[in-house]
Amino acid sequence: VHPDEVYTERTTESLAHMERAREVMPGGMTANIKHFTPYPLAIQRAEGCRFYDMDGNEYIDYLMGYGSLILGHGHPHVREAMMRQIEEDGTWLFGTPHEREVTMARRIQKYFPSMEQIRYANSGTEANLLATRLAMARTGKYKIAKFEGHYHGAIDSLLVSVHPPQTDAGFHEGPHAVPDSGGMSSEVVDNAIILPFNDAKSCARILEQHKDELAAVIIEPMEGGVIAPKSHFLQKLRQITEKLGILLIFDEVKTAFRTAMEGVQGIYNVTPDLTTIGKVVGGGFPFGVVGGKAEIMERSSPLRGSDIFAGESSPEQQPCEKALFHSGTYNGHPLILAAGLATLDILESEFESLVMRTDRFREELSRIFKKHGIPMKTVGSGAMFSVLLTERNEINHYRDMQACDHDSRKKLDKSLFEAGVYTKPGNRYSLSVAHDDQALMQTLQAYDRVVPEALL
Ligand code: PLP
Repeated sequence: VHPDEVYTERTTESLAHMERAREVMPGGMTANIKHFTPYPLAIQRAEGCRFYDMDGNEYIDYLMGYGSLILGHGHPHVREAMMRQIEEDGTWLFGTPHEREVTMARRIQKYFPSMEQIRYANSGTEANLLATRLAMARTGKYKIAKFEGHYHGAIDSLLVSVHPPQTDAGFHEGPHAVPDSGGMSSEVVDNAIILPFNDAKSCARILEQHKDELAAVIIEPMEGGVIAPKSHFLQKLRQITEKLGILLIFDEVKTAFRTAMEGVQGIYNVTPDLTTIGKVVGGGFPFGVVGGKAEIMERSSPLRGSDIFAGESSPEQQPCEKALFHSGTYNGHPLILAAGLATLDILESEFESLVMRTDRFREELSRIFKKHGIPMKTVGSGAMFSVLLTERNEINHYRDMQACDHDSRKKLDKSLFEAGVYTKPGNRYSLSVAHDDQALMQTLQAYDRVVPEALL
């Protein structure tokens, strides 16, 4: 029986919901990423590591809000912190400076000392938008280089070659720029400079060629949050960019406080010029942070006197000398900062054991696949990993990932739904503090039963 048939039988309320949703939203979706075929599950309630769909089916959730919910759903400490904060503050939005903005900045700096000065935004996307603009303001150059397969949010200049179609052409020579969305001008795509991950030599050549127009290189230093950089790759990229006068931006939206508390830069001891973080640090609420060298961040200070809403602009200033405008009604939202700080409170004592549990769980999963004679490899680090159906020993970049058997992986994921295990088909596994031994054991038993059924 095809897993879609079983799925459809068990999820009639999700289907009914999707039909209603399609009347008011394109494709029934508010975010394309939530979609999968035949239709996504509609969830009604969640608690700890479990959630329940509209038909009342129970699942152990490994999507965890795309990695954001590192304490699990509805953690009492976060809930209490938010309730207390509303009581104490008397509101949830000041629209003025307040204490927690500084408390959070200091807390982030404890783990990310490279973030000498910090600005808040409302998502990883917004954080990257600000980071790239800061880089342009600082350098007076207007192109950004990015890596094939790396996602930085739905920003035109970065929504290129995130998920290009399968091709063997031109990786080391410099991958082609392929737009990931309609509605983007050809100019944006023509301007994109795409780099191959884990190939320092090619990166050096491509960057040298474009150094006069490049403001920055942006990278997910652990590709997709799961593919590790080869030894010294990040150090070499740091040296090359420094030599060429190009800024280096680490997008640690997925990895900060999940791959390691100190992020990938902490593991590999590389200092980027700018860093963006999000997800975990917002405790499951919309949040993004940009931080980096004080002399770059300082561009956004209204004290520079050319902010369009504060201070005066001097007519002699050159475009690249102007202060940079950064604002947002909800930036530094008091309640979201309370949720983020409460999340970090718990995580500080729990992270190490969460990583140990994740490592053990990965080993057990590998053992199950081996027992059934199915080639499988997990890639990742900390509390996040991917299950890849592949015989390859090495996964070094997007194209290696693409060559894995994604159709079978999606089929397996759908078969696991019926056994009460959820991640969005094909997605990463994000564990949380709430994934206790019982949940992990239940998941392993489900795998042991479903793997041969779905894959043999
Ligand atoms: N950067 C990376 C590495 C991400 O994984 C994501 C989201 O998945 C983003 C940026 C965009 O963040 P957001 O969805 O909060 O806008």
